[in-house]
Amino acid sequence: MSEAYDGGCECGAVRYRMHGAPIMTNCCHCRDCQRITGSAFAINVMIETGRIEILKGEPVVRTLERGDKGDTRAWRCGTCDTLLYADHPMFADNARFVRAGTLDRGELLIPDAHYFTQSKYTWVVIPEGVAQFTTLPENGAGVNLGNERMARLMATLAG
Ligand SMILES: [Zn+2]
Ligand SMILES: [Zn+2]
Repeated sequence: MSEAYDGGCECGAVRYRMHGAPIMTNCCHCRDCQRITGSAFAINVMIETGRIEILKGEPVVRTLERGDKGDTRAWRCGTCDTLLYADHPMFADNARFVRAGTLDRGELLIPDAHYFTQSKYTWVVIPEGVAQFTTLPENGAGVNLGNERMARLMATLAG
């Protein structure tokens, strides 16, 4: 029986566990995320780096150079290449963005916000009342996550 926030790659060589609920879940509809996932958007589950434990295997880290946008690191299975999680320059080494699709029960996490809707596929309909941004909000999540999650978000912001 797996824990609520366990996940892993497609081939099973890497397994990980998130300790506790994420800070937030967002869908990113930017072109980079579309290309990397080969899909309409990426589902990013934000959590403190220290709350991710590798249970099996060893993810391989690769840097994606993105010019002005700042480099992003992505952790993948070295065998099947599944992208498990990435970081973001806004949060330096403090947070990871787990790909919800690699969680055993990713469907339990409901997105708090949608980013980069300027390149959203037109047939993707965002539920009414869910925050959406044409690009990225200026700072942090752009949406009020409540006291506990906002405090955790602020604690992970770089600089
Ligand atoms: Zn694998
Ligand atoms: Zn993106």
